[in-house]
Amino acid sequence: MLGLMQDWPLLLHRIIDHAAIQHGTREVVSRAVEDGALRRRSYVEIRSRALKVAKRLQREGIALGDRIATLAWNTDRHLELWYGISGIGAITHTVNPRLFPEQIAWIVGHAEDRLLFLDLTFVPMIEAIQDKLPSIERYVVLTDAAHMPQTGLRNAVAYEDWLAESDDDFAWGRFDENTAAGLCYTSGTTGGPKGVLYSHRSNVLHALACAAPDYMGLSARDTVMPVVPLFHANSWSLAYSAPMTGAKLVMPGARLDGPSLHQLLEEEGVTMTAAVPTVWLGLLQHLEATNGKLSTLKRVVIGGSACPRAMTETFERKFGVTVAHAWGMTEMSPLGSFCSLKPVYEGLSGDALYDLKVKQGHPPFTVEFRLTDDAGTDLPWDGRTFGRLKVRGPAVAGGYYRRGDDILDDRGFFDTGDVATIDPAGYMQVTDRSKDVIKSGGEWISSIDLENLAVGHPDVAEAAVIGVAHPKWDERPLLVIVPKPGRTPGKDEILAFMTGKIAKWWLPDDVVLVEAIPHTATGKIQKTKLREMFRDYRLPG
Ligand code: ADP
Repeated sequence: MLGLMQDWPLLLHRIIDHAAIQHGTREVVSRAVEDGALRRRSYVEIRSRALKVAKRLQREGIALGDRIATLAWNTDRHLELWYGISGIGAITHTVNPRLFPEQIAWIVGHAEDRLLFLDLTFVPMIEAIQDKLPSIERYVVLTDAAHMPQTGLRNAVAYEDWLAESDDDFAWGRFDENTAAGLCYTSGTTGGPKGVLYSHRSNVLHALACAAPDYMGLSARDTVMPVVPLFHANSWSLAYSAPMTGAKLVMPGARLDGPSLHQLLEEEGVTMTAAVPTVWLGLLQHLEATNGKLSTLKRVVIGGSACPRAMTETFERKFGVTVAHAWGMTEMSPLGSFCSLKPVYEGLSGDALYDLKVKQGHPPFTVEFRLTDDAGTDLPWDGRTFGRLKVRGPAVAGGYYRRGDDILDDRGFFDTGDVATIDPAGYMQVTDRSKDVIKSGGEWISSIDLENLAVGHPDVAEAAVIGVAHPKWDERPLLVIVPKPGRTPGKDEILAFMTGKIAKWWLPDDVVLVEAIPHTATGKIQKTKLREMFRDYRLPG
């Protein structure tokens, strides 16, 4: 027997409708890409402009299932485009501008995108590869006539001119909630990039799960600044969960440096923000240099790669800002877990609290965990045994776009490629990406644990650990360090600092100082590149 409740499909445009009706005057403040000035719109205006986008797209001949690419920073225009595109059942393909131009050409071709909306920043890059983008019928530059550059891009038009040919007298499309809404490619270190195709239903459920108190914990009283880009796995749901709850949004545009972010945090009264650790490194260095304060910020969500313990301690002890360590991946929409306190851990303080906070935490409803060995046998949740972390849920990928391979195990779980432990309270801790774990004498060494420890040294800005070949032990850890400006910590000093805090045989065999550590397009330490750089490296002795 079926229930007798109303048929109300979970469609994304209902979120912006709700924001406009219930929180209509709440602002979306954006830093303009053109000149860095702040632009203010309300949710009523964003919805109206999203409806114009939808109507204009339809005039352009865009229909259900068509892919539309965006190459854009976090701004009001990018936000209204998202709602406008998916509002007619077309698919927003967020392209990561930090990828190599050849990779961008590959994924735009693979997705067969029909239109490309791009910020001014990216016009020269796209002009250079335009002949490799045959599927793009028209380029819309996210600016107005006054700032529109001379360009040879096919059928190029300034966004504001394009939009001015439309009005908001339009009804959103009607379609099934399982209709595709967004497309995002993961960097994919093996084979080509892989497309994750989100649906309206999966994104709505994910946004609801994220907004809950123990996760992003959003309310109408919050002011949220998603520094994590819309092109990095849905800005971790914030482009949906903030309007859903009526939170004010602050969009930082193209300026993600410490001083620019600090200005927005203070002037706009931001209460909650989210980004990868490298972004916060820039902010903390700026605060240190200027003796700056964080007077309104209450929570910072840090994820995408492991949040170093030293970073958590600085935010919490020095600035009184609570850190929430989060883990996830593009294939999970992306939130997989969040390190908030369950009652068993509520009384923790001092070191014990920070020990807990290096864990990636527990999953929200809609995400299930499984821990197995290589043969697929379940492993105990004892906080010590590590194995493959597998996940299942309505916002977890079941397959990749235009690839036939079966990516689920016999019980329908997706292998995350992460090696982890899970403790009896359900808290997960990532040991390593399975391909980054260091295998020494048949045992595993966690590069994340070593990096975490090394950045606790007062002279260290960033640290990465890789395994290098060793004749006796197969691999031994090499610690690569970026020192803080003006500091040159010695090898012995660093190793002495780490001694006693980890098993003796985990201690790196050598320490090298470098000017910079390479990062991926989503801000992770690029271990493959680092391993290449140190391929011929010989450990001492
Ligand atoms: P890409 O490879 O395109 O950057 P993702 O952003 O989806 O793809 O990366 C997901 C991976 O990032 C996870 O599988 C995990 O290895 C790593 N990761 C994400 N968050 C954390 C975290 N808090 N701690 C450690 N690793 C993390």
